[in-house]
Formats: sequence, C-alpha cells, structure tokens
Amino acid sequence: MNIILMGLPGAGKGTQAERIVETFNIPHISTGDMFRAAIKNETELGKKAKSFMDQGNLVPDEITIGIVRERLSKEDCAKGFLLDGFPRTVPQAEALSSMLKELGRELDHVINIDVHRDLLIERLTGRWICSTCGASYHTVFNPPKVEGICDKDGSKLFQRDDDKEEVVAQRLDVNISQAKLLMDYYSNEGILRTINGEREIQEVFEDIAALLRG
Ligand code: AMP
Repeated sequence: MNIILMGLPGAGKGTQAERIVETFNIPHISTGDMFRAAIKNETELGKKAKSFMDQGNLVPDEITIGIVRERLSKEDCAKGFLLDGFPRTVPQAEALSSMLKELGRELDHVINIDVHRDLLIERLTGRWICSTCGASYHTVFNPPKVEGICDKDGSKLFQRDDDKEEVVAQRLDVNISQAKLLMDYYSNEGILRTINGEREIQEVFEDIAALLRG
C-alpha cells in the first residue's frame, strides 16, 4: 500500500501516521523527521536543511527529492510506504511520480487531513516533544502527567524551534499556498481524499483506516 498523508503542520499528520504504520505494517517516511535527525547528527544534509527550517521555510526541492529517492529505494519500502510531509510542492509531486514509475509502482491513496488555520496555530504553539522517543504532547489538548516530562520514558520534553510562535504563522502561510497547488494536482489525478481533522484522534484514525481498507 503506497500512501501519501497530507495536512498542514499541526493537522495531526504525525499522530495519525504512527497509527497507520503500526496498523498496516509499512515504513513511515517523514522528511521532517529525516531532516531533524540529520541536524541532530550534524551531517552535511543537516547543515544545509537547518537554515531553511529555522526560518519556517521549505528546504529546496533538489535536496528534499534526493533524500526521498534514496529512502524509497530501500528494501523495506517494497511492501509499501507512508509518506508524511512529502511531497510539499508540485515539482516534488512530479518527481515522486517519475520515481514511482521507475520502480514500477503507483500511489494507492492521497489523504488530506483538513483543519482550519486558527486551530492549527493553537495546536502548534502548544506542542512539546520527547527528546528521546519523539512522543508528542500538547499543553492544552494532550498534556503529559508531569509538566515537561515524557509519560513513556521520563525524558525531558522540548519545543521544536519551528513551533515557536513567531515562526508558526510564517511556516503555515508557506505551507498553505503550496498545499492548495498540491491538492489541485492530486485532485486532478482523482486520488485525493479529504478527512475532517478537527475531531478526536481516534475518530480521525477510524475514518482513515476505513478508507485504506477500502
Ligand atoms: P515537518 O516535520 O513535516 O513539519 O517538517 C519540518 C520542516 O522540515 C518544514 O518546515 C520544512 O522546513 C522541512 N521539510 C520537511 N519536509 C519537507 C518537504 N517535503 N519539502 C521541503 N521542506 C520540508
């Protein structure tokens, strides 16, 4: 099963992606996670990506397409994959389409989790993440049992630089204009499905799972 999960930052993509990959047993390919890992490990890729990410801008297409091409050619993707955060631009979507053609594959589903901008800002500025396991919490919607500490492993929580209030609006606006173009692209291909993301995590997941089970 080859899936793209779309949604603006804060729409719940990461949370839903975790559940989808667990349930359907496919690898989770998040370009944001790949860039954050590269920054943490201080690789060349990380150095290049950091300046764009810190400003709330997109990393250039040629860098992003390159890392996805490499990842999709790995053996574990043969059974399918869930792309999260990629493609984010029409050139990325076109590059993905030719990559898949080369691999003799095609997309099965493009799912867009839809949430209004005001709610996204509220969600994003309250988001805190575990420094060890990556679990995501929210000061209002999903607080940890002890403030600043992960329920699962007791590690410290941190706020992503690009979730800080001053960066969030810029990050959203960059993404909104790109997302519209992408939705048109996949809508024209006839494979775009939109899910209302302004509900409980479980309700949203049930809709997605039903769609994937077809
Ligand atoms: P995310 O975790 O998906 O919200 O991504 C965090 C940041 O990584 C974004 O704000 C971008 O700077 C960068 N990024 C992630 N995926 C892409 C992509 N497909 N194209 C360009 N930049 C990306």
